[in-house]
Amino acid sequence: MIASVIVDVASKQINRVFEYLVPEHFVDTVKPGMRIIVPFGPRKVQGFVLAAKQHSDYDTEKLKPLEDIVDVKPALTGELLNLAAWLTDETLCLQITALKSMLPAAMRASYDKRVTLRSSAQELDRALQPFFMKEPAVMWEEIKKKEHALLPLVQKEVKRGVLDIESVVKSRETKKKVTVIEALLGREELLGKAESAMSRAPKQALVLRYLTDQTGPVPLARITGDTGVSRESVKAVVRNGWAEERKVEEYRDPYEGRSFRKTEPLSLMGQQKKSLAAITETLDEGKHRTFLLHGITGSGKTEVYLQAIDHALKQGKEAIVLVPEISLTPQMVHRFKERFGSNVAVLHSALSKGEKYDEWRKIRDGEVTVAVGARSAIFAPFENLGMIIIDEEHETSYKQEEEPRYHARDVAVKRGNTYKCPVVLGSATPSLESFARAKKGVYSLLEMDRRVNDVKLPGVEIVDMREELRSGNRSMFSGKLLDAMRERLGKKEQMVLFLNRRGYSTFIMCRDCGYVAECPHCDISLTYHRSTQTCQCHYCGYQITRPNRCPECESDHIRFFGSGTQRVEEELKKTLPEARVIRMDVDTTRKKGSHEKLLDAFGKGEGDILLGTQMIAKGLDFPNITLVGVLTADTMLHVPDFRSSEKTFQLLTQVSGRAGRHEKPGEVIVQSYTPEHFSIQLVKNHDYLSFFSREMLERKQSDYPPYYFLAIVNVSSEDLNRVITVSSKIGEFLRRSLGENTVVHGPAASAVPRIKDRYRYQCMVKYKIEPKLTGTLKEILKTYQTEMTRTDLAITIDTNPYMLM
Ligand code: ADP
Ligand code: ZN
Ligand code: ZN
Repeated sequence: MIASVIVDVASKQINRVFEYLVPEHFVDTVKPGMRIIVPFGPRKVQGFVLAAKQHSDYDTEKLKPLEDIVDVKPALTGELLNLAAWLTDETLCLQITALKSMLPAAMRASYDKRVTLRSSAQELDRALQPFFMKEPAVMWEEIKKKEHALLPLVQKEVKRGVLDIESVVKSRETKKKVTVIEALLGREELLGKAESAMSRAPKQALVLRYLTDQTGPVPLARITGDTGVSRESVKAVVRNGWAEERKVEEYRDPYEGRSFRKTEPLSLMGQQKKSLAAITETLDEGKHRTFLLHGITGSGKTEVYLQAIDHALKQGKEAIVLVPEISLTPQMVHRFKERFGSNVAVLHSALSKGEKYDEWRKIRDGEVTVAVGARSAIFAPFENLGMIIIDEEHETSYKQEEEPRYHARDVAVKRGNTYKCPVVLGSATPSLESFARAKKGVYSLLEMDRRVNDVKLPGVEIVDMREELRSGNRSMFSGKLLDAMRERLGKKEQMVLFLNRRGYSTFIMCRDCGYVAECPHCDISLTYHRSTQTCQCHYCGYQITRPNRCPECESDHIRFFGSGTQRVEEELKKTLPEARVIRMDVDTTRKKGSHEKLLDAFGKGEGDILLGTQMIAKGLDFPNITLVGVLTADTMLHVPDFRSSEKTFQLLTQVSGRAGRHEKPGEVIVQSYTPEHFSIQLVKNHDYLSFFSREMLERKQSDYPPYYFLAIVNVSSEDLNRVITVSSKIGEFLRRSLGENTVVHGPAASAVPRIKDRYRYQCMVKYKIEPKLTGTLKEILKTYQTEMTRTDLAITIDTNPYMLM
């Protein structure tokens, strides 16, 4: 038997199938989708089996046998293998990259070398002897950790034949094992032993008594916890032959110890009923269709998702729910856990590698039927999918910004097609692309324009901050917002203050000469971090301590500008000293579980003001929030990105939706320096439809999506000349090769022209129908593949770009 294998070597030259002989003893085991270990040149690497077959087009005499098997059960299903092939083609990535992206990080291979002693340790160079005192083989990593310079010595010893080096492949997945204790005697006997041990060994007697109340194996940790005796005493009981100790495998459960009260389906409002019916009908017909559920905030979209999933589960099928990482708030996860209990696996970045691996295994082993997670959960290895839901479908975090550069929405539609099942995209502010598709009938549009129980949408007021400045208010709070906050404090109601920090930063500037601290490696100003008193580059990590004097003119009038959450917090302390502020930003949520703790505290009323960035814009549902303040609405409008208006409108609408979701009416105050901009004005009436038509006009005028598709070719190198030469040639080649209705822009310097000392240029392709695009782009990668291995030239292609900087 012969296995067709994709090997774990990320190189354009090696991006093809290699064949290996399957040794006799593996013939019954090797299956497509399995990870195996194969010799590759002098190394050993991991590989994925694509197919197992009887014949080869090559001379089988020359084929090498595969070395070992990593999986007992294939890691990837047949469907996922096909999906990987599709992904490779769509995003122009390497096959191995597509395959690896479908598995949890713990399953990616790591490589090391094992150094083995072949004769006695005395013959070995002195410097190396200590490593081989205990065992005849050590990992190269271990030697390197101690002393980097030992490599030449090791090589010398290998030549002399005293040492041997072989490469090894490790998979980093670990299974959690717990020690359990089980009594070997009956109840009466245990009591008898306890009696007689009482005076001599009272701790053991305690353990014996404890065991009489238990049935089956008990975790050792629980015994010590419940009885207060040491592990040693428990082990003594084992040594005496009264009980036995075993290790058992256990799933790590990130929600361990938490119970979820089961919720029952709510009886639906009219619009919810209609939406649900359309979705379940498609499911019952066994057809694929993509729905766009356009429902305002608070219209009850989540309840529709829950009941649609329930419908699929009742047919014995499975469901995937994607939510943006940032709104994978405990609140959202709990709603699924409460409805479907232990049938839910949760996949998000706050889990440890081991936890993620275990959640993934629950999916693959059929122990759960619902997967809730961020972007990569779209690859959940279900085999009988009945429902795929993408909440907040407009979120740009569904696009992966490294290879494979896929959009989860496209993958969802692809899988929905394979399984003939509905895909539901939900949002209060759909992406222009999706809404345009719905209007054209490519997607089915479901509208929910009323809140549950007809709760009123909050009133939105826009405050012109230029006016405030003119009237002498230099604070970051307008008079209006300050009054509103005071009023809430008086009434003991809660509020959310939102600071839009994306595309905005605190920078250091000299007031005398205008000097701005910039990164010497990237063309971008440094961000001031108050907690560490440093200035950092957010692209490359370069950092300096905050200068006290201007490096240019020696003036000491060097200050930081802009406002981060920490500064807002300080100002709040001064202006509203009685207010209890809970701050949520990257700094306060770094620790695992802190996100949840802060939200819990706010939910319990331990804070008056929840102050935060993007991460508080979504998913919050607290009845006592009656005021939402947006400090600076327009910071994102000035980012060089054709989607900046769309993102501004979406975010403001999203934040506004946090207020007045229950009985108490809500109010939203939006502060802006460009209040006349339509993306800010239209938030006032929650008017998505007007926003859509207005923004579509802009896109039409400048030939942007959804009118045109985009593709971007990025070229970078430390050598500016090389970047210019190569990108010019690419530009010419694109113009020459593509159809006449396709527009090619550039090359031009990227919006951030240099990052980590590398110059960056790009060419942009705008097209409607361009059959030659994929072929042309592949040709470019092929042309430069040698130059890319020999020099520092890098060319990346994004066939559906969201990051234009
Ligand atoms: P959305 O996801 O559209 O913003 P949610 O699903 O969060 O809206 O619903 C808003 C609130 O209304 C939630 O507290 C939810 O429990 C409640 N809700 C949803 N549907 C119903 C219903 N049919 N009857 C009563 N309450 C509902
Ligand atoms: Zn200066
Ligand atoms: Zn930098």
